[in-house]
Amino acid sequence: MSPNQLPEPLDFFDLCKLPGAQEHHRAFQASLRRFVSQEITPHAHEWDEAGEVPRDLFRKAAAIGLQGLSYPEEYGGTPCDHLTGMIAAVELARCGAGGINASLRSHTIMVQPVLLGGSEEVRRKVLPKLFAGEAIGALGITEPSGGSDVAQLTTRATRCEGGWRLNGGKIFITSGMRADFYVIAARTGGPGGSGVSVFLVERDSPGFTRQPLKKMGWWASDTAALHFDEVFIPEGHLLGTENQGFSIVMNNFNAERLGMAAGALGYAQVCVEEALAWARERKTFGQTLISHQVVRHKLVRMIDEILPLQSHLAVLAQRLDAGEKPVGEISLVKAYAGRVMRDCADTAVQILGGSGFMRGGRVERIYREVKVMMIGGGAEEILNELAARKLGLV
Ligand SMILES: Cc1cc2nc3c(=O)[nH]c(=O)nc-3n(C[C@H](O)[C@H](O)[C@H](O)COP(=O)(O)OP(=O)(O)OC[C@H]3O[C@@H](n4cnc5c(N)ncnc54)[C@H](O)[C@@H]3O)c2cc1C
Repeated sequence: MSPNQLPEPLDFFDLCKLPGAQEHHRAFQASLRRFVSQEITPHAHEWDEAGEVPRDLFRKAAAIGLQGLSYPEEYGGTPCDHLTGMIAAVELARCGAGGINASLRSHTIMVQPVLLGGSEEVRRKVLPKLFAGEAIGALGITEPSGGSDVAQLTTRATRCEGGWRLNGGKIFITSGMRADFYVIAARTGGPGGSGVSVFLVERDSPGFTRQPLKKMGWWASDTAALHFDEVFIPEGHLLGTENQGFSIVMNNFNAERLGMAAGALGYAQVCVEEALAWARERKTFGQTLISHQVVRHKLVRMIDEILPLQSHLAVLAQRLDAGEKPVGEISLVKAYAGRVMRDCADTAVQILGGSGFMRGGRVERIYREVKVMMIGGGAEEILNELAARKLGLV
């Protein structure tokens, strides 16, 4: 089977069979599935090797409502419930190239601070362009000195006439090279979380330079180190209140983690689809792999990990729609999703054998993308710690 001939999605994974799914969910799923299979999957290998997604894809994704999905209509967005968001993440994962999705959707981790903390002028300047696929957004929190302990960040913004001067650097920033708008966390006060503010920084600001970074997976998305040397930020580009940025950053992580967990669910499902299709075709010792009990039990084990993840995410979707903020459970589900993706990628490569190790297929890419899903947006250890506190264990 060539990388572009994909096995059919498996019925028992279908999110539209979950309680609460309606006709509009199915219609959205069908249109996105068509979009991914026509516009993304045939090019996934080529774009991954090239290390870049064409700008045109952003506009095409915007045309079907993807870039503005879940955001307010007044800025060109399309509001939706959390099940729709989950369907989007799972369908996008079907291309089996996390770098394409990270690139295409890097704005989704920086929109919330703009929406919640930006002035009307800033929102109007940034959001319609992002949702129309005409601009790319990036979020800069992590620094060379560390990403897990956000409260210790050292990039500093100091007051000057008409605004602020930014000095310091960020690292591992998705769409760091190509973004037009950056949301940057910087220290404006004393030590700890209570001295952090969040700013909008524009691409062409004098003193702002970028350097590309090579990495293990997600090749199709650019990742960069950002350097700020006396970069001027106008007063109006402070998002929220001075020194109150830490809670903006922390709240922002919830949507990112939920999205990554739903993405990991999708990648794990792809691993099952690919491994099952291969196991039905491939023969060893005179019989198909699936005829070996050991192999089919491996597939069952993968499904057995995936279904609880799907259920947990579906319950969280309902709770979030109901206005709850289950931060502890979101932390748990993101950490669990990373492990499920890891186990499924590992098993799928094993079932595919040498073919699973060859470049160009979905499973090989997914295997290389496991670690970023277990580290980015909060490493498992950090998530467990947060869950312990939020669930009231300590
Ligand atoms: C491809 C990629 C894209 C990324 N995109 C972005 C982006 O767009 N924007 C952004 O701001 N960041 C981004 N990141 C950064 C990411 O969020 C950080 O890598 C992550 O938060 C971990 O920070 P760190 O790498 O500095 O690891 P550190 O904080 O140095 O931690 C290293 C490891 O130590 C362990 N650890 C840390 N603290 C503890 C503890 N208290 N107890 C036990 N173990 C601990 C964890 O296993 C952790 O993985 C990206 C990272 C990657 C790899």
